[in-house]
Amino acid sequence: MMSIKGKVALVTGASSGIGAATALKLAENGVKLGLAARRLHRLTELQEKIRAAGGEAIAIEMDVVDEAAVTAGVEKLVEAYGTIDIVFNNAGLMPLSDIEHLKTAEWHRMVDVNVKGLLNTTAAVLPYMIKRSSGHIINTSSIAGRKTFKGLSVYCATKHAITAFSDGLRMELAPTHNIRVTCIQPGAVETELYDQITDPTYVEQMEDLKTQMEFLTADNIADTILFALNAPKHMNVAELFVLPTQQGW
Ligand code: NDP
Repeated sequence: MMSIKGKVALVTGASSGIGAATALKLAENGVKLGLAARRLHRLTELQEKIRAAGGEAIAIEMDVVDEAAVTAGVEKLVEAYGTIDIVFNNAGLMPLSDIEHLKTAEWHRMVDVNVKGLLNTTAAVLPYMIKRSSGHIINTSSIAGRKTFKGLSVYCATKHAITAFSDGLRMELAPTHNIRVTCIQPGAVETELYDQITDPTYVEQMEDLKTQMEFLTADNIADTILFALNAPKHMNVAELFVLPTQQGW
């Protein structure tokens, strides 16, 4: 087993849902956290919770779309804890809608945050990992990064991009730089993700979904990430496809 105690991790989208649950779990396991997102008050609350439990964390106000903010955020973390060993590229949004409604601002936002944001963070942390020939990159794709669903075309396109990019990263970085890459592809998880939906058809559809199955919790996903991080050094958990048992698609 790899010991993650004392390692330094950057978590994007740490202000809620999967990111917050994972940050908390990593802190409980002795990881020093950089908590990144836009809502600073949420990050500060989490930082205080982690510190009160004896862990180490700093809040980093950072919009992943803003390259300069990402570079500054990563530098802030390195200043605080010396390096970066782990990045959890998790910030994302899923405003579903039918294509014919041409909600182009939402399409662009998904591409900017889900894809370009992840590229920005990856570029900012990689030099530290390459320099030390060590690191672990975890990217949040989705079941929507493996299959296509109606109403999710653009979201699926962004998550397929993450699945493809993760595999390429792994092939290029794992053998030569000892950097492991994990692409996590969850099914339905109970978080604030659905709050971003503006199309009433899909607001309703998502509410219905909650009555059809017991969703995963963000903490369930955090556990699978811990599994990938704790895997022995020679073992790269490249993909994690994790679904509610009752999810029949
Ligand atoms: P939440 O809405 O609870 O969390 C999304 C996080 O992303 C928030 O912390 C938000 O923080 C952050 N975020 C959004 N935009 C930006 C930005 N521009 N810069 C920095 N941070 C940003 O949803 P989840 O926890 O569910 O989502 C986490 C990831 O999991 C996403 O990539 C999502 O696509 C993926 N996923 C979720 C599934 C689910 O069923 N819930 C299933 C499969 C994948 P803030 O607003 O403070 O910036």
